[in-house]
Amino acid sequence: MVWERILLGLLIAGSASLFVHGLIQKIRLIRAGAPERQRTDQAGARLRRTLREILTQSRVIGGRPVVGVLHAVVFFGFLLFALESAEHFLKGFGLSFLGPLLGGALPAFRTVMAGVAVLVIVAISGLAFRRFALVRTSPDPRSWTSGLVALFIVLLMVTYLNGIRAVPATPQATWWLHAMILLAFPLLILRSKHFHIVTAPFTLFLRQERLGDYVPLDLEALAEAPEGQETTLGLETVGSLPWKMRLDFLTCVECRRCTDNCPAALSGNTDLSPRTFVLAGRKALTDCAPGDPVIGSVISEAALAFCVTCGACQEACPVGVEHLDVIVGAKRAQALATGRGVVAGSFFRSIETHGNALSRPRQERAALLDDLALPRFTGADDQWLLWLGCVWGFNRSQRSAVQAFSRVLDAAGVHYGVLQDEPCCGHHSRRQGEEAQFQDLARRSIDALRQSGARRIVTPCPHCLHTLRRDYLPLDGDFASLDLEIVHHSELLARLIRDGELELDRSGEDLPAAYHDPCYLARFEKTSDAPREALAAAGFTLRELPHRRERTLCCGGGAAGFAREQRVDRARRAEITASGAPLLITGCPECRMMLDATVDQTWDIAEAVAHAVRPRGGNGGTMYLSHPSTVDIEERILKMFALHPEDELQLLEIAGKSHISGRLDDLKHAADALVENGALHLTHRDGARYYGLGGFGG
Ligand code: SF4
Ligand code: SF4
Repeated sequence: MVWERILLGLLIAGSASLFVHGLIQKIRLIRAGAPERQRTDQAGARLRRTLREILTQSRVIGGRPVVGVLHAVVFFGFLLFALESAEHFLKGFGLSFLGPLLGGALPAFRTVMAGVAVLVIVAISGLAFRRFALVRTSPDPRSWTSGLVALFIVLLMVTYLNGIRAVPATPQATWWLHAMILLAFPLLILRSKHFHIVTAPFTLFLRQERLGDYVPLDLEALAEAPEGQETTLGLETVGSLPWKMRLDFLTCVECRRCTDNCPAALSGNTDLSPRTFVLAGRKALTDCAPGDPVIGSVISEAALAFCVTCGACQEACPVGVEHLDVIVGAKRAQALATGRGVVAGSFFRSIETHGNALSRPRQERAALLDDLALPRFTGADDQWLLWLGCVWGFNRSQRSAVQAFSRVLDAAGVHYGVLQDEPCCGHHSRRQGEEAQFQDLARRSIDALRQSGARRIVTPCPHCLHTLRRDYLPLDGDFASLDLEIVHHSELLARLIRDGELELDRSGEDLPAAYHDPCYLARFEKTSDAPREALAAAGFTLRELPHRRERTLCCGGGAAGFAREQRVDRARRAEITASGAPLLITGCPECRMMLDATVDQTWDIAEAVAHAVRPRGGNGGTMYLSHPSTVDIEERILKMFALHPEDELQLLEIAGKSHISGRLDDLKHAADALVENGALHLTHRDGARYYGLGGFGG
C-alpha cells in the first residue's frame, strides 16, 4: 500500500538521520582530543592485519574460545544478513535485488540462510545465558542493552525464518516487526557498547603495531617553550587525552578480558581494574571539563601504584584498546607535572645516587666482575658484549646464575666480555613515568655502547633487551647506524644448542620444572620458543603454567615492582605452586628475584642449561647443579672429587666447587651416604666436617 511505503520511507529517513546526528556527536568528542602520533603509516600492512584479525576473529576467540566462537557466529551472521536486511527494505517498496542476482539459486541461498539463522539463535542464546545466568563469569550481568540486543537478534532471526516459510504466519505483522527492529538497531548501537561495530575496525587499524611503543617526550621543546604557551608533560587533564585514546574509550566492549588478565586484579587487588579506568575515561569525555585532572577522573593514584605495566590488558583486548598509553601517560603526569602520588620514589633516587636500581654501591659490581673473573669487553669483532643489567650486576644472590652463564659461554667457546661500567638502561624509570630520567640514562647507555664498539649484545634481562632493542631508536636516530644484534640469553643458548656448539649431558634426566615466561620476553618481544627449546634440550620436562607464552602473568616486578610496597605476585605464585613442580625456571633476573622461594628452588635458564652442559672437549661430568630430589647428587660429588682428588672440603665448599645448589641437608645426606659406603672419608677438625677421597685425616 502506498501509505505503508510512505511510512517506511519516513522511518528509514528518521532512523538514518538520528544515527548520523549521534555519530557526529561522537566524532566531535574524538576530534576534541589532543594530537597524536602518526597512525596510518604502513597502511597496507595495517589493513591486512586488521582484516585478518576481523575475519579470523583471532582477538575475540583467543583466551576465551567458547565465548569467542559464539561471538564469531553472531558476527558472521550479522555480515551475511546485511544482504537480507537490504532485501527486506527493498521488498517494502516492491523491489528486489537478490531475486535478479541469484535467479534459480535463491531457494538454496535461503536454505543456507535459514541454517545461519538457527546458528545465530543458538549462539546469541548461549552468550545471553553466560551474561545473565552465569553471573560469576559474566562481565556485566546487569547490562540492559545487552539483553535488548540479544532479544532483538532472536526476534530478527525468528521473523526471518517465518518470512521464508511457504505460508508465513501473520506475514504483514512479522514483516513490520522485522523492519522496526532493524530501524531501531542503529540507535541502540549508538547508545551502547555495541558502538564497537562501527569503531572497532578503526581502533584495530590505528593501534600500535608493537606493544609498549611509547612516544618520547620532546623535553628540549618543552624546556624552550615560550612562557605562557600551554605545555603538557603527560596526561594531566581530560583535555590532554589524545583522540585515539578517546576513540578507544568509546569502542570498549566492556568484556572484562583486560581485568581478567591483570595480575593485580587476579591477586585480589580491588584498586586496579583496567576495564574500570577505560569506562571511567568514556564517562569523563562527556561528564568532565577539559581542565579536570586525569588522575581522579579517569584513573586513581591507587590504580597507578599497583600497575606493573605488564601489558596483559592491552594484549587481551579484542578491540585494540591501548591501556599502556593511559597508564604511562598518567604516570608521567605524576612524576613530571604534579609530583603527587609517585610510588617508588626511592627507586628514582637510587638510580641518581648509585646508577643502579638496587641501591648498591657501584664498587660492588666491580668486585663481582673480579670475583667471577669475567672477561672485559674489548670491542673485538667476534666478541659478544654481555650486558648484565642491574640485577645480575648487583644482586649477590644471583651470582650462581652469572657464573652459570659464563661457564656455558666458555663451554661453547663463545668470545664475550662485560663492560667495566654499565649504565642502567632506564627501563623502569620510563615505565614509572620518569621520562626525563629515562632519557638521561638512555643517552648514557647509547654513549657507552657507541664507545665500546659493540656489534653483538647478549643480555639475561628482558627489560634491558626490550629497552635496548626498542626504546633507544626513537630517541636517537643514529642508534640504528650501530647496527646492533641484540639477543636474550635464552635465544643465544638455543642457537648454540641448535648449532651443536654445546654438548649436552642429559643423562636420561627428565627433570620436572615450571617455566615462567617473563612479560618483556614473551609478550613484548614475542620470544617463548627459544627458552623452551633450550630447556627441552637440557632434559627438562616442563609443567606449563595456565598463563603462558604471550598470555603470561607478571611476577610483580614490572615498573620497578621490586622497589615498591604494592605486590601483585600472588596469582602467579599460586599458579607455580599448583603446578607441583619442585623447580621453577625463569628467563629474567627480576622474575627470579620476585618469585624466589615459591617452590624448592628457582633457577635462571642459564643455570638450567649449565647443569646439562659438558665442558668443551670434556670427557664427562656435568658442569653444574642438578635437582636434588631427582638426580644423583652422590655421583656429582664423586665427579667433583675426581677433578680435585687432593682436596678436603667442607659441605659449602663442595657445593661451590660442584655447583650443586639447593638444600644443604640434601648435600649432607648424599655426602654422608658416600662416607658410609666407603667412597669418601670424613674427618672432624676444629669442630668442622671435612670430606675427601681419603689419604688425609685428623
Ligand atoms: S599493565 Fe598489567 S598491571 Fe597494569 S593494568 Fe594492565 S594488566 Fe594490570
Ligand atoms: S578495554 Fe578491551 S578488554 Fe577491557 S573491557 Fe574494554 S574491550 Fe574488553
